[in-house]
Amino acid sequence: QSSPVITIDGPSGAGKGTVSTQLATELGWNFLDSGAIYRVLAIASMHHQIDADDESALLPLASNLDVSFQTTESGSKIVLEGEDVTYSIRTEEVGSIASQIASLPRIREALLRRQRGFREAPGLVADGRDMGTVVFPNAEVKIFLTASAEERAQRRYKQLKEKGHDVNIARLLTDIQARDERDANRTVAPLVPAEDALVLDSTELNINQVVEKVKEFMKGKV
Ligand code: C5P
Repeated sequence: QSSPVITIDGPSGAGKGTVSTQLATELGWNFLDSGAIYRVLAIASMHHQIDADDESALLPLASNLDVSFQTTESGSKIVLEGEDVTYSIRTEEVGSIASQIASLPRIREALLRRQRGFREAPGLVADGRDMGTVVFPNAEVKIFLTASAEERAQRRYKQLKEKGHDVNIARLLTDIQARDERDANRTVAPLVPAEDALVLDSTELNINQVVEKVKEFMKGKV
């Protein structure tokens, strides 16, 4: 019997990251930020000067990606080829390259085993786009978290502003819509809710309200 999994899928900015980390912390479970893997791969491709559409050249990089997810006293840390990339993977540019790379079927395939390796006792909260549909199709609990594109752009705007970045909200909204469009319409692992997922719209909900709804849905399942 393998460890239980809760999958949380949805578009960027819906609150998946915050909800997933909060749940994982409360439950004392492991956490998989699958988007971070695609982002790390995007940085690696930049380092190695490989184009985001060059699947053959990217494949060995994806298969041998030298990344580690570390938990430190001050939080979690992501290290690529010895370099701390915790913050550098979070830019819009890296997100956009990650989403281009993520549309390549052989790359997704190459990353499957690494992602499934996060399923360890006592359980896993997995955050991404295809956690419930492709990576963990037999997960005990599946959530699909959405919010309107406008609300997601607003949240992202606030986040970036707080970090002191100079941002343009209209540009953010266009970027979010472009990325959604690409993620939803790609042929492999498109962003769609699993048939057995609970679809939650967080446009009018705060984080605690979302977490409460997820816990309610989890009852009797894990
Ligand atoms: O969630 P995050 O914004 O960090 O993900 C970056 C990009 O990686 C997404 O836009 C998406 O294209 C891709 N991704 C994916 N499948 C996942 C997680 C992320 O295709 N499970």
